[in-house]
Amino acid sequence: MFESRWQAFASSIFSKMSLMANAHQAVNLAQGFPDFDGPDEIKEAAIAAIRGSFNQYAPSIGLAELRRQLAKRQEAQYGLSYDFAEEVTVFSGATEAIFCCILGLCRPGDEVITFEPFFDCYPAATSMAGAQLKTAALKAPNWTIDWAALESQISPKTKLLMFNSPHNPSGKVFRQDELERLAALAEKHNLIVVTDEVYEELIFSPAKHIPMASIKGMRDRTITISSTAKTFSLTGWKVGFTFAEKSLSALIRIPHQYTVFCSATPLQAGMVEAFRLSPEYFANFRQLYTERRDCLLAILRDYDFECDAPEGTYFITADYRRLRDIPDFAFAEWLTKEVGVACLPISSFYLDSASAAQRNRRVRFAFCKEVSTLQAARQKFAENLTKALQRVGYPV
Ligand code: GLN
Repeated sequence: MFESRWQAFASSIFSKMSLMANAHQAVNLAQGFPDFDGPDEIKEAAIAAIRGSFNQYAPSIGLAELRRQLAKRQEAQYGLSYDFAEEVTVFSGATEAIFCCILGLCRPGDEVITFEPFFDCYPAATSMAGAQLKTAALKAPNWTIDWAALESQISPKTKLLMFNSPHNPSGKVFRQDELERLAALAEKHNLIVVTDEVYEELIFSPAKHIPMASIKGMRDRTITISSTAKTFSLTGWKVGFTFAEKSLSALIRIPHQYTVFCSATPLQAGMVEAFRLSPEYFANFRQLYTERRDCLLAILRDYDFECDAPEGTYFITADYRRLRDIPDFAFAEWLTKEVGVACLPISSFYLDSASAAQRNRRVRFAFCKEVSTLQAARQKFAENLTKALQRVGYPV
């Protein structure tokens, strides 16, 4: 059999848990994708684009009109101005942008520093670029930064500081003072900062999303990645984008040009409409997600999980120690198979997952689901949890 260098990355935790959820007819609160679609206006615009003349390659860097809209929005929303021609780029999703940042900016042997837990593609992306991923802990339950660990992990080989805010899986939203301290570190060690801000519209009051690029001195040192997937509930369209100073943009456009070349043209045309939606859309969006967050929080608390309301994202991390004291991979599998609710083990977001699983007693639940789906999860807990606990010998 043929062997691949990337064998270790063969199956992502998202695919694994979704397969398991389907096999056991579990309510899938593991993989973060909405079970409802985004606005019809966007779909209609993409359909019109297919019927019209948007079916050949787009420019590699993205349709000009979409890049213009993106630049306009970044300015209106955060006061950050970018030249749509040289500083805004469209990618096939934020994940592709993450890969292109690492491939475009790192040489073999370079290091990328991030926080642990991290989004699952970071190790694969760094490894495929021949770079090395270093981590510093975010400490549960408040996900505070271990500053000493962070500084100690930075070396002369470190090129990028990469993180995600609002943060998947923790739901943490990085505060101004934290961003300023990270900015000072980036300046001191001459690092480029890559921030994945795909959950920027999934912010719950009083938290506020602050882009790293808006911190003093950081605009030209930061590559901001975001996406339309979460904001417009169309994750399968894979339309992501970046804002970066022009010499950085030029570098990350290279791997994009020779892999994807361009993102699907009619879907980009559809997304032009997305950025024309009224402010009401975003207010409703936040309202709807606040309700869903509170709904899932209440369900989890009713069934003895310990959890706080996340400040951002559509994920809740829940401590299950009061139910069972077993590693999180085992707990997630048990909950999926025996109770019928699928969740994600947080340890899959650590470099050394096996040892993280020995310590960690938290799993992640997604609430980007219809209220009826969340209620179906409540039903599963009501019907199956006590019996499932009794089967493993727990006095309940
Ligand atoms: N971002 C989503 C999550 O964290 C899904 C990512 C994926 O399926 N690749 O669940």
